[in-house]
Amino acid sequence: MNKGKITRVSGPLVEAKGLSDANIYDVVEVSKDKLIGEIIEMRGDVANIQVYEETTGIGPGDEVVSTGAPLSVELGPGLLERMYDGIQRPLEKLELLAGEFLKRGVTAPPLNREKLWEFKAEKEVGDEVIPGDILGSVDETSVINHKIMVPNGVKGKVKEIKDGEFTVDQTVAVIETENGDKELNMIQKWPVRSPRPFNRKLDPDTPLITGQRVIDTFFPVAKGGAASIPGPFGSGKTVIQHQIAKYADADVVIYVGCGERGNEMTDVLDEFPELIDPKTGESIMKRTVLIANTSNMPVAAREASVYTGITMAEYYRDMGYSVALMADSTSRWAEALREMSGRLEEMPGDEGFPAYLASRIADFYERSGKVIVNGQVEKEGSLSVIGAVSPPGGDLSEPVTQATLRIVKVFWGLDYDLSYQRHFPAINWLNSYSLYQDKMDSYIDKTVDEKFSKNRMRAMSLLQQESSLQEIVRLIGRDGLSDDDKLKLDVTKSLREDFLQQNAFHETDAFCPMEKQDLMLDTILYFYDKSLEALSDGANLDRLEELEVKEKITRLKLIKDENLEEFDQVKEQIDKECKEAVAKGEDE
Ligand code: ADP
Repeated sequence: MNKGKITRVSGPLVEAKGLSDANIYDVVEVSKDKLIGEIIEMRGDVANIQVYEETTGIGPGDEVVSTGAPLSVELGPGLLERMYDGIQRPLEKLELLAGEFLKRGVTAPPLNREKLWEFKAEKEVGDEVIPGDILGSVDETSVINHKIMVPNGVKGKVKEIKDGEFTVDQTVAVIETENGDKELNMIQKWPVRSPRPFNRKLDPDTPLITGQRVIDTFFPVAKGGAASIPGPFGSGKTVIQHQIAKYADADVVIYVGCGERGNEMTDVLDEFPELIDPKTGESIMKRTVLIANTSNMPVAAREASVYTGITMAEYYRDMGYSVALMADSTSRWAEALREMSGRLEEMPGDEGFPAYLASRIADFYERSGKVIVNGQVEKEGSLSVIGAVSPPGGDLSEPVTQATLRIVKVFWGLDYDLSYQRHFPAINWLNSYSLYQDKMDSYIDKTVDEKFSKNRMRAMSLLQQESSLQEIVRLIGRDGLSDDDKLKLDVTKSLREDFLQQNAFHETDAFCPMEKQDLMLDTILYFYDKSLEALSDGANLDRLEELEVKEKITRLKLIKDENLEEFDQVKEQIDKECKEAVAKGEDE
């Protein structure tokens, strides 16, 4: 039997009896309104179903019908520039603001069925194809060419294929397989909880450049890597996620807003279309899919949204693209898990989260990676995952943060004190880390500047020494320091204020290319070296601390990307003023 009757309703959880043929994770339609739900537990013919919509008005006796298939998404041209809810129903801005669905039950199909796409065949009749091979492509937007791939499980010889205008559900190719002819259109369905297959995993070796100095220089994430940003409320998680979505050098961005406030997602909607991708000169929406589940939408849909998002991300990776997925915030997803687990009366683990929390989080992040995708031609694709975590009270020892840190290789620790001092991005350089650092260093040394990694290590070591020097200053005052140490505190202040601080809302500063990051760091350290030299050559410390060029250093971040030669002029000025300081020192 794949039909049952409801026996109990508890918020988003519905219990039904009589579904003996259904399987765990099958999607079911609940009541005559056909609310969408998913079986999350089966005991005999009793199913527990999490319903992705408001269950008001639903009660015992109502019918439940299993669709016999797991929760799946539709993949194909037309995903980009769209916004969906957690189970891939197209969303309009109004619905997001209202915080509820205007209509419950099955709505419009996720991919537009009317739109015609210009399909260009890349295979010919007679070609042998396997899953992952590219049959042809359509220009999905002005920046992304969408590859139409042979779906999983289909293998054989192309019998028919033609160029032309097609809707997503019209046949574009016929494949002669062992089990007869298979007509293919441009839609692939994929169950969201199963990772899409690929050929093999590669070691991530190129950085995902985000244009954020503290990240790219000190705590880089690799293309295909996973990073986590835990931080208390108001510390800047959302701003960082937005910055990365806007500027990271990924081809495709999937932005999952799971459970944050509705107006935050509408900010994204207002802002993103206006933003121009520096690489293409087009709106960043042309390469973006938004998944929105605000905290006032049903809790179960939040649980699904991260899977819906990552499945889409994997699909674009299969085409050979570099994809970045942002999830803001994964804590809301974990809370949804906790709520469902509580209603199922499962044995609670740490802080009420289910015992499987850590494995769910690991499974999710493990879907990131740089891979050779399926298909006969060797092609790379990468999927980087950046998850925000909002630990209650900023307490990093709580279960979601801990489970996340065990799996991700990059930790950007946001610090309440820094955000309070308006030091943004408030990433604490003393406790953050990136395990990709070595590989990324050698990449930047090779492609940007061979002294980059040396500079970076030196700057970090100076910043680490700063805290103990500050301790001394607190105890005995600045006068207790040697002149060398005073200069050291000057340079660390400059590193903090002129390099690490970056204003996300400033036209020039919001995005800083790697070349400029390197020049900025190099110039600050150059100034440090020259002033140390001048000091030992007899310059007066007070004079060194008041050189005019220091003002220029505070404004290095405002040098336009097209005027990077200005850095040379600053260095010349440093030379000149330091020499003058030495000469004056000798006179005195
Ligand atoms: P969270 O998501 O952690 O609650 P937000 O990302 O909303 O915090 O950040 C809170 C506020 O901090 C922002 O509204 C903004 O004023 C400020 N802020 C955060 N990051 C930056 C930044 N890089 N540049 C300038 N201001 C920032």
